[in-house]
Amino acid sequence: MERTATCVCGQLVVGCKGEPASVSLCHCRACQKRTGSAYGIAAFFQREHVESKGRVQRYTRSSDSGYEVTFHFCPDCGSTVFWQPHRKADMIAVAVGAFADPAFPAPSQAVYQEHRHQWVGITPPSPSASPPW
Ligand SMILES: [Zn+2]
Ligand SMILES: [Zn+2]
Repeated sequence: MERTATCVCGQLVVGCKGEPASVSLCHCRACQKRTGSAYGIAAFFQREHVESKGRVQRYTRSSDSGYEVTFHFCPDCGSTVFWQPHRKADMIAVAVGAFADPAFPAPSQAVYQEHRHQWVGITPPSPSASPPW
């Protein structure tokens, strides 16, 4: 299986081979601000299974794990398409929304429940307290 994630204007394209190692939903405030939505969702793939084409702009911030995360976004339309969690150097996180695929595997965990908007009723089977990156 190969899936393709793109930014909204389409110049940044990321191909992902195989199934994601995990899919994680994050209610944290940084994800809320990055996405402009109530939460972010990341699909983690092995680095060697991910290939990107197109121009990227990068933004690095620290995370609560103490490691940095480098976000890659389209310099033209601003969509964040993928990011590199420095804590997991062999993995790439890809924004699930960038696949625009309603059949994409559901999240298996949700983190930062304390920042969950009250109307969001998502309760994946194994919630975790630790940040996914
Ligand atoms: Zn774009
Ligand atoms: Zn988050």
